[in-house]
Amino acid sequence: MRAIKSKNSRPEIQIRKALFASGLRYRIHFRDLPGSPDIVFTRIRVAIDVRGCFWHAHNCRVANTPKSNIDYWASKLARNVERDRENERALKDLGWQCLVVWECQLRRQSFVKALVGRIKSQAANRT
Ligand SMILES: [Zn+2]
Repeated sequence: MRAIKSKNSRPEIQIRKALFASGLRYRIHFRDLPGSPDIVFTRIRVAIDVRGCFWHAHNCRVANTPKSNIDYWASKLARNVERDRENERALKDLGWQCLVVWECQLRRQSFVKALVGRIKSQAANRT
C-alpha cells in the first residue's frame, strides 16, 4: 500500500545523484525499516525521506490545495501525513535519524549542498 509514494520520483533522483556524485553510497527503498525510506545510510543509521509537497501536504506554495473533491483529498492527504508521522516515530524508536526532505527545498541548490555536506560529515565522524 504505497501507491501514494511514487518511487524514483524526480526529486528523489535529483538528491540521489547529488549524494552519489559526492562519493556517498546508500540503499534505496529500504524495506527493512518502517515506511521503506527512500534513501538510507545503514552504517550511520540515517534515513532520508523525500516527500512530494502535494502528496504529503507540505505547507508551501508547491502543494496547492485541490479545488474539487475537497473532502476526498483532505482525508487522503491527512492519512498520508499521519502515516509519515508514524514512520518517523518508528524510525526514531529504532535508533535511526530521519531526515525529511521536501520537493520544494530541492529547488535550491544550496539546500542540496548543505544536505550532502551534513551526511558526509556524519559519515566521516563514524569512522
Ligand atoms: Zn513544499
